[in-house]
Amino acid sequence: MADADVGDAWYGDDPSVNRLQERAAEIVGTEAAIYVPTGTMANQIALRLHARGAGHLVVCERRAHVATTEVASSAVLSGISYRGLAGVDRGHLTAEAVARGLEPDAYFDVEVVDLVAVENTAGYAGGSCMRAEALAAICRVARSSGIPVHLDGARLFNAATTTDADPAEFGRAVDTLMFCTSKGLGGPIGSLLCGPAAMMPEARQLQILFGGAWRQAGSMAAAGLVALENGPKRLHEDHERAKRLGAGVAEMVPGSLDPAGVESNMVFVDVRPAGLDPATVIDRLHDAGVGATPTGDGHVRMVTHVDVDDDGVDVALEAWREIAASGSGRSQA
Ligand SMILES: *Cc1c(COP(=O)(O)O)cnc(C)c1O
Repeated sequence: MADADVGDAWYGDDPSVNRLQERAAEIVGTEAAIYVPTGTMANQIALRLHARGAGHLVVCERRAHVATTEVASSAVLSGISYRGLAGVDRGHLTAEAVARGLEPDAYFDVEVVDLVAVENTAGYAGGSCMRAEALAAICRVARSSGIPVHLDGARLFNAATTTDADPAEFGRAVDTLMFCTSKGLGGPIGSLLCGPAAMMPEARQLQILFGGAWRQAGSMAAAGLVALENGPKRLHEDHERAKRLGAGVAEMVPGSLDPAGVESNMVFVDVRPAGLDPATVIDRLHDAGVGATPTGDGHVRMVTHVDVDDDGVDVALEAWREIAASGSGRSQA
């Protein structure tokens, strides 16, 4: 990062940023890509590019990141709202659900849906992975209605690893996609919005409008290039560790999770069957040096990544063993 060639990314002359953008497009099978500070910004630029204007809707799974964590952003920045569909296949939209979601409004018979947004892996469903064929089926349905598809692929490389697919199979199916260098790939900052070259001038304009055009971003892009080249090769290790962690917790805390549901690098533990409370569990994990977050529905979320090794999984399992042995967390607080 210290030795990176840098320029001014605002003017498009930062060589490291340009290299990252070209390499990202090549790997995911799109014509072009732009490097932006966050995944949220990449999604928000894409939504704005595809939506015709305020009052228009995006079809997505109801718990999708764009519609939950980011919902105020798209309302404020672009006047966009969502038609959230219940996830039918481990938190993933299906072609049938999308077909129903694209039907015109029952009362007015006006077409207000401008976009289908798909998430892979599905974060709120515990990192479940959609196969490229399922995405292609959704794209066929959307296209037959003249509606584009955006892929929120914050963890696309995890999905590609689990489904044994080339990331370009996903990229070639959709109109735009974003992925984060800063999630499983291990980069420090930044995400790529990938799509047709013809869309990029307007995407760059929106990047400026949203305050995300940056200057000497090459130091970050240099790390992003390492993340992009080396990150995908080791994701299976994260997935194996997540499986071991999930299986261990399932054994110690009966009814807390189905180990078969651990498809990528996330482990969602339902602590309610054991009479535990997520906040207490998270505090106790934290005291043992294990980071975890609540999901808001009685689950505790853990994520394996480049900084978690086998010993780290052992530490987490030991912490869970103590939590399970101490019984109800409510009386422990
Ligand atoms: C993290 C994430 C984002 C947003 O990325 P940031 O860089 O945190 O803004 C979008 N979608 C999903 C599914 C994510 O996990």
